[in-house]
Amino acid sequence: MQPSERLARMPPYLFAELERKIEAKRAAGADVISLGIGDPDRPTPALIVEAMQEAVSEPQTHRYPSNRGRTDFREALRDFYARRFDVELDPAREIVAAIGAKEAIFNLNLAFLDRGDVALAADPGYPVYSGGPLLAGGEPLALPLVPELGFVPDLDAIPAEAARRAKLMYLNYPNNPTGAVVPRGFFERVVAFARAHQILVVHDNSYSEIVYDGYRAPSFLATPGAKEIGIEVFSLSKGYNMTGWRCAALLGNANALEHYWRLKTNIDSGLFEAVQLAGVAALSPDADHEVASMIELYRQRRDLVCAALRDAGVQVRVPRATIYVWAPVPEGFAGSAAYCEHVLEHAAVVISPGRAYGPSGEGWFRISLTTPDHRLAEAVQRIAALPKL
Ligand SMILES: *Cc1c(COP(=O)(O)O)cnc(C)c1O
Repeated sequence: MQPSERLARMPPYLFAELERKIEAKRAAGADVISLGIGDPDRPTPALIVEAMQEAVSEPQTHRYPSNRGRTDFREALRDFYARRFDVELDPAREIVAAIGAKEAIFNLNLAFLDRGDVALAADPGYPVYSGGPLLAGGEPLALPLVPELGFVPDLDAIPAEAARRAKLMYLNYPNNPTGAVVPRGFFERVVAFARAHQILVVHDNSYSEIVYDGYRAPSFLATPGAKEIGIEVFSLSKGYNMTGWRCAALLGNANALEHYWRLKTNIDSGLFEAVQLAGVAALSPDADHEVASMIELYRQRRDLVCAALRDAGVQVRVPRATIYVWAPVPEGFAGSAAYCEHVLEHAAVVISPGRAYGPSGEGWFRISLTTPDHRLAEAVQRIAALPKL
């Protein structure tokens, strides 16, 4: 049986070899510690779980939800965006519920790209920024995040031909995988660029709540003019330990959201209402102290990891947000995959090769802070103890 042409266009999975080695190592009895995946290890806060338990016993939540989302869920997002980001939104026209950020990002490609259209995609970046356009029949164009510019793309370096064909642009701050926060003035330049080239900006706001050292992450929608050319994906997955729940929303430009909603009415039947009611609980100020205690936990882990990497001779930049430490591969290794295989082989620790997030991730690796403290400490000790090449 042959897959569709669209599926055949997807690039081969680059890390099949690494995964095979992880399996072999485990099968041989090694105590492998994975720092690879960004999936919070702590449970969802009790007040959110309890809201879900109550909601799920209400028979009204058992029926098909509306595809826009419940009014109270959209109003909770409106209130959160006002309180947190100083952004005003109309819940009737400027907010739609999504079954996770991944669903929203993927479906936007189907809503906006035709054959030959370009989607500008942050590189390194969340893999759906390039896989989504490919599956939709469009063409992803990598926007290299330049370390010298603070891990933002150089907008002036985008070829005129690509800018002309581009319909979408995917950006994400605080950033996965680099841990970078948006430099001052960058969002303003994005608005001007998108206006000039009539591109819909999709800002992936999956990490705004995981911030350190007094930093406050802005919403893209707080930038003057952003709502005219852009939308934001807000996900509860990472900030509220809710990856399994699939709770997110798209917010911003009403016209773009109308197209997304119309597409969705043909694809899925909305977000389970009990999950939306759990989302209402998560977005209320009552959950703020839960987020604060998660931040404190990640901050300690971040400092532990950065100190151990420094001891190992790795030049690491301490991130001000996200659950990731992004660091350059030490000298002497052929590339990020070779270094990650070396760490697996000699320390039995899984770290992510930067190349998995795009061509510009080559030469870097990512450590996720979502492993229980004692295991994380053990893993970084093993890495620090590796003989230097
Ligand atoms: C984890 C992650 C997502 C996926 O979020 P879901 O809401 O769980 O689908 C999207 N974008 C980025 C950058 C992520 O790191």
